Amino acid sequence: MKVFYSPVHLDHAPPEEFEGGRMTPAVEVPARVERVKAEVLRRGIGPVAAPADFGLAPAARVHDAGLVTFLGEASDLWRRHYGEDAPAAIPSAWPGRGMRGRFDGDIESRLGTYAFDTATPILKGTWDATRAAVNCALSAAAEIKSGARSAFALARPPGHHAGADVFGGYCYLNNIAIAAQWFVDQGMRPAILDVDYHHGNGTQSIFYGRGDVLFCSLHGDPAFAYPHFLGFADETGAGRGEGANLNLPLPMYTAWDRYAEALDTALRRIAAFGPDVILVSLGLDTFEADPISKFRLAAPDYLRLGEKIAALGKPTLFQFEGGYNLDALAEITVNVLEGFEAG
Ligand SMILES: [Zn+2]
Repeated sequence: MKVFYSPVHLDHAPPEEFEGGRMTPAVEVPARVERVKAEVLRRGIGPVAAPADFGLAPAARVHDAGLVTFLGEASDLWRRHYGEDAPAAIPSAWPGRGMRGRFDGDIESRLGTYAFDTATPILKGTWDATRAAVNCALSAAAEIKSGARSAFALARPPGHHAGADVFGGYCYLNNIAIAAQWFVDQGMRPAILDVDYHHGNGTQSIFYGRGDVLFCSLHGDPAFAYPHFLGFADETGAGRGEGANLNLPLPMYTAWDRYAEALDTALRRIAAFGPDVILVSLGLDTFEADPISKFRLAAPDYLRLGEKIAALGKPTLFQFEGGYNLDALAEITVNVLEGFEAG
């Protein structure tokens, strides 16, 4: 399968993040994509290609124009305010209940209005990397539209936590939602399967009121796992989207047997939806030795995951999301792709 990759992501390299009351080394780092790219080539998954430039119009189909504009200028505004050598823009205040968001205020008020956490710093290179990641997603979508059985958008920053007008969770624009909307605009019927350890709150919220895109997610129960506020089983969609949202929150230390049952439930729902394309939010932080997660999938389980997705018999776009064990990430990512190709 064709793999879309741009080296522009290398300039988005957060040194640290605020976690557990202290600054800690960042886990969403360039080595993630670089190692997977090397493994993709080593195991002959497919050619690595540069993405085409789709501009910002496809992103504007799912994102608020104000968010897109803000992300484009945030780094400049931050450095104008705090000095050229100021490190990453990270919010320090949010509009709490009873306060108004300010979309046209100073850099701090706009940052606090659009960001929902402290884990998602904006650096000089963040915007270009974000746009390159969106272009990888759209290039993979175009590859499938032109008849390919599968394609892999190997890009970062990830996207599934970014909502229509809010960014967070290491995500700025929602790559997979933008690609899904692009398919809708081509007259196709997409279903999204999110297998990242963390609930894809951004993707869910973007399509929550719509029945033309199915969203299914398996993830750590938000009762104990990030993003804490969304991802519960009773979130089933609203209005025309009622029934088009399936959350399968799972307990701590979930291993393959329990995971596979939930996966089968999601795959049955996807089959019943009758999609003509599947988009997989491919997060690998379900791995047993992931540093920030609490599931226990083992490396060979990812082959089974790929095989099960392949059994749907639909064109499939894989979108790289989370996964932070640098020693295993490349192997388990390519296991999924290899399992799919064998399935
Ligand atoms: Zn994750």
